[in-house]
Amino acid sequence: MLESEPMEVIRDAIEWIGTESGRFAFTIAPYLLVGLVGLYVLWLLVGYLRVSQVGLGEGRGTQAAVPLPALDDVPADQPRGVPYCGADHLQYPLGARFCTACERDLLIDCANCGATSPASEPSCYRCGAPTGEPPRELHA
Ligand SMILES: [Zn+2]
Ligand SMILES: [Zn+2]
Repeated sequence: MLESEPMEVIRDAIEWIGTESGRFAFTIAPYLLVGLVGLYVLWLLVGYLRVSQVGLGEGRGTQAAVPLPALDDVPADQPRGVPYCGADHLQYPLGARFCTACERDLLIDCANCGATSPASEPSCYRCGAPTGEPPRELHA
């Protein structure tokens, strides 16, 4: 009998769902789905924050870019401890991470030793001084 074949399959499937493993799969599936959707929403949120220049966890409003007089195209001319864009030489307030003009990661010159690191780094890779922190103790 060919007609009994599909019925057998369906009955087998129902029995399998009734087993522990089947129940486990059906219990976990919605959570997996919710997790994936959550990750997607988080990804969208992070993308939005990047574009809108609002730092994560920071209640700052919009941060206006300050155009610099074009002196030289040498990044070393940037004042130390101020986040800036290496491409179009815009300065940003402390805490800024991305250029509003070109969306590049901002750079920051160490206030202590002048080494250039990404503005997202909490401290200088070279001397360990906190980025953006003025060297207060130097002339004591
Ligand atoms: Zn830029
Ligand atoms: Zn340094």
